[in-house]
Amino acid sequence: MKIDVLSLFPEMFEGFLTTSIIKRAIDSDHVEVTIHDFREFATDRHKSVDDTPYGGGQGMVLMCKPLLDCLKTVVTKDSLVILMSPQGMTHHQAYAEELALKQKHIVIICGHYEGFDERIRDYVDVELSIGDYVLTGGELGAMVVMDSVIRLLHGVIT
Ligand code: SAM
Repeated sequence: MKIDVLSLFPEMFEGFLTTSIIKRAIDSDHVEVTIHDFREFATDRHKSVDDTPYGGGQGMVLMCKPLLDCLKTVVTKDSLVILMSPQGMTHHQAYAEELALKQKHIVIICGHYEGFDERIRDYVDVELSIGDYVLTGGELGAMVVMDSVIRLLHGVIT
């Protein structure tokens, strides 16, 4: 399985990817995980990735273009694009099993700020929540989803 994660805070994944069963799964080529910092796709001199909401609304949201430009470099027709979102379907064991069994390539988008530019949702297959609470960003959720899936890949534990 291949997993690409789009995040503004790649350093959050360092311990997760270099420890225990997840490290072993990567080292033994059961899974290939790449973390992409989509701030690198920002085009202004401040490397801005936040914007006022398209069509109005409160707070700042993730800007569409840097995220979509990054997404286009990783996505293929076989990818499943997951958006971490407190409004999404709550992740559960049966869904982790489905992902581990059926998907060859998962792309996980980690949000930040007050949410997303609504146009990003056009590129997303599934919105996933890890529980009924609001986190600062999608990174912890992405790790929960990855951990629950990677450990189920054939040969990782059994
Ligand atoms: N008002 C925003 C909303 O309801 O979507 C809150 C955004 S939250 C501060 C920032 C990001 O953290 C979200 O876009 C999402 O990627 C992630 N996030 C927050 N809570 C989450 C949860 N329970 N499950 C999955 N991702 C979550």
